[in-house]
Amino acid sequence: MSAYGLIGLSLDHSFSPAFFRQFFIERGLSNHSYSSIEIKDGEELKRFFSTSISQYSGLNVTLPYKEAVMPFLHQLDPIAQSIAAVNVIKVGTGLQLKGYNTDGPAFLDTLKEWDLPEMGFALVLGNGGASKAVQWALNQMDYTYSIVNRGVSKETIEYAHLQKRLVEKASLIINTTPLGMYPKVKECPPFPFDGINSTHKVYDLIYNPEKTLFLQLAEAKGARIKNGHEMLEKQALLSWKIWQQAE
Ligand code: NAP
Repeated sequence: MSAYGLIGLSLDHSFSPAFFRQFFIERGLSNHSYSSIEIKDGEELKRFFSTSISQYSGLNVTLPYKEAVMPFLHQLDPIAQSIAAVNVIKVGTGLQLKGYNTDGPAFLDTLKEWDLPEMGFALVLGNGGASKAVQWALNQMDYTYSIVNRGVSKETIEYAHLQKRLVEKASLIINTTPLGMYPKVKECPPFPFDGINSTHKVYDLIYNPEKTLFLQLAEAKGARIKNGHEMLEKQALLSWKIWQQAE
């Protein structure tokens, strides 16, 4: 029996358990299981790593534990190190735990079909975990970018100070905030949509709803749009690849 699972909080509507259960059925992997592992706080996380980790061959990690799991791991893949967040754990021989990040590579892969200009400029809305994965991908593409976020900070621009000329300069705009995610589908980052036109590619990492208000407003201005579903599938498939790799 090979057991896999997703560590996180409020996992009722998570994508990975349903995805992997179907994945195992389609491949006839009847001796594989995938469970939701609801963890309510840091104490419970610690207990999980000391008492339950031996039951698993691999794990996915979601909010709010992508950083919190790092002290429990023995090794970090260089991409996870660079993004400073882990969404995949491989449980190796002797319970050696190695952490990976597949969000960054998955996002990068989904950009291929968009035929983006080389060494362009992007705007990244939000500066949390997913934003760090997106920033890693933009660095791989030799893109420059500005980060737009609420609140005042040296490294980010406030929404209210985002100028139209910066929006016009961007080839790619990515929403990495949870604004607009089900059930709060009427929410949207306070973005100046006036600067958007048909040359823009606008990406929202949210996958539920399929078309967030942010994507609807960008599409109405002529932009090409993409939601987070493809990235989600790709990061899951990359997790599987990691778990199958020989040590
Ligand atoms: P996170 O670490 O909590 O970061 C969220 C970011 O959004 C933070 O920068 C936060 O601002 C900003 N934000 C939150 N509420 C806001 C508000 N009301 N107004 C303005 N900004 C706000 O979360 P995350 O892990 O990055 O995830 C963010 C989203 O990406 C979620 O919807 C998640 O489902 C999605 N995601 C999708 C995929 C995929 O495969 N498609 C993968 C990963 C994540 P502060 O910095 O000020 O707190």
